[in-house]
Parts: sequence; structure tokens; C-alpha cells
Amino acid sequence: MTVMTAADHAVDSSAYHDRLMRVRSAMAEHDVDTLLLSVGHDLPYLTGYTAMPLERLTMLVVPRAGVATMVIPALEAPRVRELSAVFELLPWGETQDPVSIVARLSSGSTKVAVGDQMWARFLVELLPQLPEASYSRAVEVVGPMRMSKDAAEIDALAAAGAAVDTIAGELQRGEIPLVGRSEAQVSAHLSRRMIEEGHDKVNFAIVAAGENAASPHHHAGSRVIREGEIVLCDFGGTMAGYCSDTTRCVFTGDVPAEVAEAYAVLHEAQRVGVAAGVVGTPCEEIDRVTRKVIDDAGYGEYFIHRTGHGIGMEEHEDPYIVEGNSLPLDAGHAYSVEPGIYVPGKWGMRLEDIVVATSDGPRPLNTSDHALLSVSA
Ligand code: ZN
Ligand code: ZN
Ligand code: ZN
Repeated sequence: MTVMTAADHAVDSSAYHDRLMRVRSAMAEHDVDTLLLSVGHDLPYLTGYTAMPLERLTMLVVPRAGVATMVIPALEAPRVRELSAVFELLPWGETQDPVSIVARLSSGSTKVAVGDQMWARFLVELLPQLPEASYSRAVEVVGPMRMSKDAAEIDALAAAGAAVDTIAGELQRGEIPLVGRSEAQVSAHLSRRMIEEGHDKVNFAIVAAGENAASPHHHAGSRVIREGEIVLCDFGGTMAGYCSDTTRCVFTGDVPAEVAEAYAVLHEAQRVGVAAGVVGTPCEEIDRVTRKVIDDAGYGEYFIHRTGHGIGMEEHEDPYIVEGNSLPLDAGHAYSVEPGIYVPGKWGMRLEDIVVATSDGPRPLNTSDHALLSVSA
């Protein structure tokens, strides 16, 4: 197991104090008295510390004013890099009840915001101890901040993107053996390369050959890759606390006309989607313009998912590039543009880049070749 410490993160320690101040003004705006963060990425966003997802409770208690406290199992306290300007550490011993400690620190609160990934058991235990409080999701105060990446965060996303682009290049040049190997073997190869290229953790390495590529979240299995088929590779991980995610397809042999025609449509749709990422444009508009290219070419029924997702400390986070999300893009929003065409029983294809919205226009973080290259590998 890789244990991340604050030092592994791309963010400078002074940034945490600034984030805490901004979170507090968001709490005031939303009438939140206390913010409770446990497992999940809001906690490391504010403190640099990632809670262990185990049965012992770790909880950051942030009152709107006054000292923030990290309630933590005593045996895990040495993992924390203390930031005295941000929080105090309150270790609890094996026989203490941590939920009552959190309740005491939150007493008098009428509105409590809780992180999405806090374990239900802790919330269930807390509810009767704060009978006066109403509850909301922490995303209402932390979400907008996490969506708008600062320069250091964008640098970290770009570095992670460059690392997976190196591997995509190897795939496209035929340097990663495909034919005769199973999808799982190629997936393991991609995973090993991500670590070698500086990732701390592999989040996924989808390898789907031929008809398996028609299943967007296919689990790489024992299927052996043959000559004359498409191989879809969608891979990403976490590097210095920030995620990568890219998809490229290659063809083991000459590309048949039917596949080439569909890919030309996919390629154009993805180009249009990336270009639409102008500050102020609603997220759903990026989905619409991307989908329109595929619809107009007659493949609409085969594009069965949203166009993209936000990315940052998490692989999938806000903003989602999907019909119904009218949120306007802001500078610093980072997200994927990943249309696909999936013909069940035959083949599938997807093309994915991470893009950051900037005041100068969309900045793609993945720049490996966008063509469907024929490889002899
Ligand atoms: Zn996905
Ligand atoms: Zn992906
Ligand atoms: Zn993605």
C-alpha cells in the first residue's frame, strides 16, 4: 500500500491556510456552522492529509470561526504533517468514542455540512448527538473551490498528462506488444509503465480488444489480442496527488473502411468538443456540440455515455460534461472530452483528452497522436 504524505502533494503548505479561509467564507455564504470531513478528497485538499479508509474515525471539524480540529486515531497521528496555521490535532485512544468528541466540537451547530464519502455508520451515530442540527453536503462549500484549479494544480495535472502521453506514444509506435498477449497482460504493462513514469498509483488501465471495446468500462481479461482488430486503451493514475486519464485506440493491421469512417467522425467530434471549451460556455454545450457531430453522421445511438467528467485529485469529479449541467466553464476547470462509438458485438472506439479551460481558450493536457494508427505489435 502506498501511503501518501503531504510532501508527496504538489501543493505548497501555505496554500492550505488560504484554502481554509476561502472555505470559511463559503460556509458563511451557505449558513454552514460546522464542516465535517473524513474519508474522501476534501480532507487532503484542505490539510494535505488523506484519512485511512478504515473503521477508526478520522474527522476534520471546521467551525465557521475558531480552531479547526483533526480528530484522529492516536496510532495514525504520526502520519499527519501538522499545519498549526490550519488545524490542531486531537488524537483519540482505543477505548474512547470519537463520534462523541466530534459531537462536542460541533455542539450548538444548526447546520452541519458533511463530506460525501464519510462512512454512514459515523453519520448515523452522530445524528442523535446533534439533534438540533440540519445537514447538507460539503460539496456545496468545498466543491466550487476544488473545481477551479490553481496554477500548481494545473501544473500537476499537466505533468501527469505528459507521463501518460509518453506511454500512449509507445503504444502508437508499436513498442508495446499486443498481438498474442491477453488484454490483462497489456493492462499490466500499461500499469507498470505508469509507475515507471512517476505515478504514485494506478487508477485503471482498461484494455479492450475487438468486440470487447464496445463495452466502455470493459475489465481487461484473458481475451487474447489478434491481428486485424481495434485495441482500446484507457488508462490513468495519480501523480503528486493529481490524476491522469487518456484514451487512445490502435489497430493491429490495416484499418478496414467501416472502422476508418467511424473513427473520422469520432476524431472530428472530439476536436469540436475540445475547441468548445471556452470560458463561459455551459458544460452541457460541450456535450451537445460533441454529440451533434456523431448524431449527424448517423452514429448517435452508439454514443452511450456523457462526453466527459471533471478531474483533479479524483478521477471523476465536478464539473460533469453532460446534458443538464448548465454550469458555465470557468478558468481553471479541468475535465475530459471523451466521446465514443460502440457497436455491440463488433467494435468500439473512444478518444479522450484532459482539457483545462483558461482565459486564452481551452488547453489540452494530452497531445499524443489523435489518429487511429495501424501498429504491427
Ligand atoms: Zn469512465
Ligand atoms: Zn479514461
Ligand atoms: Zn475519463
